[in-house]
Amino acid sequence: MRNREVAGLLENIADLLEIKGESLFRIGAYREAARRIESLTQDIAQMAEAGTLRQIPGVGEAIATKIQEYLATGHLRYYDDLQHEVDPALIDLLRVPGMGPKKVQLLHKSLSIRTMDELYQAAREHRLAPLPGMGVKTEQNILKELERLQQRTQRHLLGKVLPASEEVVALLRELPIVQRADPAGSIRRMKDTIGDIDILVASDSSEKVMKAFAQLPMVKEVIAMGATKSSILTYDNLQMDLRVVEPNCYGAALQYFTGSKSHNIQLRELAQKRGLKISEYGIFEETTGKRLGSKEEEEIYHILDLAFIPPELRENQGEIEAAQEGKLPKLIEIGDIQGDLHVHTKASDGSEPLMAMASAARAKGYQYLAICDHSKSLGIARGLSVEKLQSQWEEIRELNAQLVPFRILAGTEVDIRNDGTLDYDDDTLRGFDIVTASIHSGFNQPQERIMERLAAAMHHPTVDVINHPQGRIIGARDPYAVDLEMAFQLAAVTGTALEINAMPDRLDLDDHAARRAKELGIKLTISTDAHDSSHLNFMRYGVATARRGWVEKKDVLNALPLSELLNWLSQRRRKR
Ligand SMILES: [Zn+2]
Ligand SMILES: [Zn+2]
Repeated sequence: MRNREVAGLLENIADLLEIKGESLFRIGAYREAARRIESLTQDIAQMAEAGTLRQIPGVGEAIATKIQEYLATGHLRYYDDLQHEVDPALIDLLRVPGMGPKKVQLLHKSLSIRTMDELYQAAREHRLAPLPGMGVKTEQNILKELERLQQRTQRHLLGKVLPASEEVVALLRELPIVQRADPAGSIRRMKDTIGDIDILVASDSSEKVMKAFAQLPMVKEVIAMGATKSSILTYDNLQMDLRVVEPNCYGAALQYFTGSKSHNIQLRELAQKRGLKISEYGIFEETTGKRLGSKEEEEIYHILDLAFIPPELRENQGEIEAAQEGKLPKLIEIGDIQGDLHVHTKASDGSEPLMAMASAARAKGYQYLAICDHSKSLGIARGLSVEKLQSQWEEIRELNAQLVPFRILAGTEVDIRNDGTLDYDDDTLRGFDIVTASIHSGFNQPQERIMERLAAAMHHPTVDVINHPQGRIIGARDPYAVDLEMAFQLAAVTGTALEINAMPDRLDLDDHAARRAKELGIKLTISTDAHDSSHLNFMRYGVATARRGWVEKKDVLNALPLSELLNWLSQRRRKR
C-alpha cells in the first residue's frame, strides 16, 4: 500500500506551506488529510482508481486531484513548484524543538541558514542572538537542542564508543565506593554501531557515584542527574547513561541491561514456563517470590539450565536453543589470532615503513604479518609498480632473516579491475606468498557485473583471499551489489578465504554474513587493513564481529600457527 507515501507527501506540502507563511487553514487541511490517509485501512491507490478518494474524511476536491496526479504519474506539479519556491532543506530545521516556521524563515532570510550544521555554526558564533525576537537565551536553547538531537539520532561506530566507554569505566572502577563497573547494552554485545551508551556500576553509595561520574574529566555537560540513573555528554559528543545498582543485584542487572531486548523476552518466556521470573533484580520463584540468583550473570543462565551465553550472541538468533542443546559455538578469542593478513606500508597508502609494521606486529605476539600494499593502477592509493615490488620483496627477505622465527609474508591487495581482470600479470602474482584481492572501483555496477568480477577473482589460480567482500563503509557508503549467497558458493567451490575486515567503519563481512559463511564451511581471515601500526589494534573489532557471527577458531585462517598457514597456502599453490 502507498498510503504512507501519500500521507508523507501531504505532510511535506504542509511543512513547505508553513515555512512559506501560508494560511493556517490551508496548512491544517493538508495535515488533516495526511493523518486520515495514514490511518486508512483501505489501499489509497485502489480508491484513486475507483474514484472514491473524496469519501475519505478531510480529502476535498483539491487534495483528491493532487493525490490522483501523484499516484498516476509519480509526480505532483504543485509539489515540484512549491519546492522551487521554498527550499525543502528547511523542513529539517523544523525538527529542532523551539524552531517554528517563522524562525526558520527569519534565519533563512537574514543569515541564509539552510541546514542544521549551518544553524549550529551560527549559534556557536552567536549570530542568532542579535536577530529580532531571538535573544541570547533562545540561541542557547537552540544550541542545546541541536546537540541533543544529534546525540539522539546518531549511531556511533563501536570503534569510537568502546574505547571511550572503557575509559569511563576504568575511572569509575578506581573509586573505592565502586565495586564493579562495565559497559552494558549494545556495546557489550559489540554491535558494529551503537546508539545508547549504557554503563553499569555496582555500589552501595549510588549518589556519590553519580557525583563522581558528573565530575569525570571527559564530561562536557551533565544532561540529567538522578538517584540511580544519570546522563552526561562527553567532549567527544557522546551521551553516556550511568546506572548504579546494589552489588547484590549486579549480575541480574548486567544481564538485563546487556539485552538484546528480544533475547531477554525469550529468556523471560523460558523462565515463565518453569514458574520463574526474571527482572533486573534477579531470578525469582514466581509463587514464593524467593530469589534464586542475582549476584552473578551466570546464575541467571544456569538456573534456567542453559550454558552461559556470551553477550555477542544475545540477539535471539537461535542462541537460547543452542544453549539448551549444549551446542553453543566455542567462539574465537583475540588471543587465538596468530597474525594479521592485510596491512599497508608507506610504499602504498600506509604511513609507516615495513620494519615499523613488522615490529609492531611482533610486539603483539604475532607469528606473522602479511604486507598487502595496493596494486599498480590504484593511483589514489599509490599502488606499487612491478619494479617497486621487487625492492619490497628484497626488503622482506632481509628483514625475515633478522626477525626469524617471525615471518613477514610478501602479499598484495590486488585490484579486481572493472572488467574482472587482476591488476598484476600472472607471473607477478605467482611471486607473492599470499594474494588478497579487492574491489575498489565500479561500486555502482549492477549485481551481475560485480558478481562476474568476484567470480573471476576467486577462480583465478593465485587468489587466496577476497578482502572486504561487501564493500560497505558504515555511515558513508552502502555495500555494492554483491549477491552474498553466490559469493559464498564461489568461495566454497574455489576454496577462497573471505576477509572480515576489522576497520571500525568497515567490519566487512558483517556479523550476519560471517555466520552464513561459517555455516558453509568457508575459511575466514580477520585482518585489520592497518594503514599505520596503531591500526593493528583494530583486530578486536574484527574478532568481535566474528564472534557475533558465531565464528570459531577453526574457521579462521590467521588463527593458524605459521607452519600450518604456510601449509594451507602451499597446498593452494600446488592445486594450481
Ligand atoms: Zn581495500
Ligand atoms: Zn587494504
